[in-house]
Amino acid sequence: MKEYQIVVLRGDGIGPEIVGEAIKVLDAAGEKYGFKFHYDDRLMGGCAIDATGEPLPQETVDACKKADAVLLGAVGGWKWDTLPGNKRPEAGLLGIRSALGLYANLRPAQIFAPLKSASPIKDEIIGDSLDIMVVRELTGGIYFGERGRCEKNGVPAAYDTEMYSRPEVERIARVAFDLARKRGHKVTNVDKANVLESSRFWREIVLEVAKDYPDVELNHLYVDNCAMQLVRNPKQFDVILTSNMFGDILSDEASMISGSIGMLASASLAEGAKGLYEPIHGSAPDIAGTGKANPLATILSVAMMLRYSFDEAQAADTIEKAVNDALTIARTPDIYEEGYKKVNTVEMGDLVADLVRKA
Ligand code: NAD
Repeated sequence: MKEYQIVVLRGDGIGPEIVGEAIKVLDAAGEKYGFKFHYDDRLMGGCAIDATGEPLPQETVDACKKADAVLLGAVGGWKWDTLPGNKRPEAGLLGIRSALGLYANLRPAQIFAPLKSASPIKDEIIGDSLDIMVVRELTGGIYFGERGRCEKNGVPAAYDTEMYSRPEVERIARVAFDLARKRGHKVTNVDKANVLESSRFWREIVLEVAKDYPDVELNHLYVDNCAMQLVRNPKQFDVILTSNMFGDILSDEASMISGSIGMLASASLAEGAKGLYEPIHGSAPDIAGTGKANPLATILSVAMMLRYSFDEAQAADTIEKAVNDALTIARTPDIYEEGYKKVNTVEMGDLVADLVRKA
């Protein structure tokens, strides 16, 4: 029997509730496909501050480094909002991303057919469904470049620097092309090569990498055009490959096409397929403890874990189909529509786990 070690960071607010349901679904998939998961619960975020005084204790980092994958709920909440920046729960997130060297952020923007009406985009533009994957470089570029305050023409000024090295671009481009091979065989590279030298360099390397993937179609868009095309004709996209800052903006835009924050999963990958998997939403302190949290984003995050860290594509497909089927039966309050059974967090988790077992 195959066995996988998963560090679980339940976090704060709705984090423990949604992670509990995702684990239920993972175990159902494990039973069905014959693998076993070992869960190692660790502290990060507000709960870690309360217990240890630090948002990211060293024991948590050490455990994550040893594990095959990390599952994160969400961190943060009003209780810790007045702490200084480096002591806040969210500092734990940045810390774990850098400690694990998570350089590739994968954000699917998906519309499940039963939830089409939640999208702000017109039906005729979306068609039956939509499935875009944004691949964002996560550890380089302007967010990590040299910055400072200076003077310009005798008045105060400030600057940030965009810089990418060849290996940084090469490895993220390979992630995008490898993914496209498992999906629609198309990569759209997004840059600003008409203006920025760093983008021209980025594009040159993407073109070089593309030579190793003759079966994958490659096209290029400037970031401003891509922002427009995502709303005008999102069906043209399969995998979008882009830099840290452009990806930050475009992945939020793409994910909003789906219309529901409770449905959006994400993965951040390091070398060797180790990954951290989390829903894109926060800890939703306004609904914590009420049973209203939608666990589907976290459940879809563990499907990504099976696909990208464990190479268990069949089990991942089964979970994604179970989520789609659950949506034809029941809805949590955030996505509720008349005609469906209204369920709470645990009931939604039970339903998906059941559908996985019966698949
Ligand atoms: P949020 O994503 O927590 O909530 C925004 C809105 O969406 C709220 O009304 C919330 O009730 C709703 N919502 C979010 N997830 C939901 C779900 N699964 N089901 C149903 N409704 C859901 O964003 P926020 O309110 O800006 O932030 C709250 C806290 O979370 C803050 O402390 C913030 O810093 C933190 N945060 C953490 C992460 C993370 O852990 N990765 C990400 C974003 C925000």
